[in-house]
Amino acid sequence: MATMSVLTRDEAQTRAQLLDVHHYTVALDLTGGDDTFDSVTVIRFTVRAGQDVTDTFVELKPADLRSATLDGQPLDPHSLTENRLPLKSLTPGEHELRVDATMRYSRTGEGMHRFTDPTDGETYVYTQLFMEDVQRVFAAFDQPDLKAVFELTVTAPQGWTVLANGMTEHTGDGVWKAAPTPPISTYLVAVAAGPWHSVRTEHRGLPFGIHCRRSLAPHLDADAEEILDITRACFDRYHEKFDEPYPFDSYDQAFVPEFNAGAMENPGLVTFRDEFVYRSAVTDTERQTRAMVIAHEMAHMWFGDLVTLRWWDDIWLNESFAEYMGYQTTAEATRFTGTWTDFGVARKSWGYDADQRPSTHPLAPE
Ligand SMILES: [Zn+2]
Repeated sequence: MATMSVLTRDEAQTRAQLLDVHHYTVALDLTGGDDTFDSVTVIRFTVRAGQDVTDTFVELKPADLRSATLDGQPLDPHSLTENRLPLKSLTPGEHELRVDATMRYSRTGEGMHRFTDPTDGETYVYTQLFMEDVQRVFAAFDQPDLKAVFELTVTAPQGWTVLANGMTEHTGDGVWKAAPTPPISTYLVAVAAGPWHSVRTEHRGLPFGIHCRRSLAPHLDADAEEILDITRACFDRYHEKFDEPYPFDSYDQAFVPEFNAGAMENPGLVTFRDEFVYRSAVTDTERQTRAMVIAHEMAHMWFGDLVTLRWWDDIWLNESFAEYMGYQTTAEATRFTGTWTDFGVARKSWGYDADQRPSTHPLAPE
């Protein structure tokens, strides 16, 4: 596997000073087989005048970079160094970068993960782009403070449903169009595609959906009312707390296979490990944990997604606040009123434990 340069905070600050990124059009074609998919990205951005540094780069980790053009002029695909495509001597004003590439599916949960269910042979793909895996899916100025509008089109095999941050519409021939997002960070873009089993409803005029792979359908159906009740109750409670309307156009929760984390707060399309679709009898504590994770991820819709950290050194605040909101809101709005006991037993001792290790460090380095 090729090496990858990790973006430093200094590099991110320099790039944020130079660029104002407006809009991504991303076209993904998932019909090309088991190993790779096609990815065409058009990025519209402005270069600010009066900058000392006028060179920058876009991140991309392709299997094959077919072509790249800046304002219609071809760039040399061989100039891609590790994961960076240089953009040199940029002039002030509007620019359009177009990148046409083949990307690799991931089997590790980084980027576009691809999974074939051994139960029925059905295949599912979904993205996990936090913190720096956008470049495994499409070309991007990948740092949290360069927010933009994302407009996605996905071509998928017949019989699949495509979910994305914005509401999706099947426009024919396996082509799905997602509604443009409000300005969001690159790491929050999400796609989940496959022959999902879905339970859909509407709440306060917004489409809500829960989704899982087909082989888990009976287990999701058995708990659908519980999951949706918690979702609705927390949604209403957050409206009271934040006094700011939910910022996205729909709320989908996809329970996805082989997920590395517990869940991920993609705006309008939260992904959860599908172990949360219980396949046998579980304790009420496990149900409470699932409720808390639902509430935690929903808190991020406002705090994390609408308002986002400028750089990763503030991740502690992003996560602590979502955790606080999650425990509090679950206790206030659902039947799981004893969440703070769980916090005291599990989370607090986890914190004490981490703090006693040699690796303990200040939350905020500066
Ligand atoms: Zn979180």
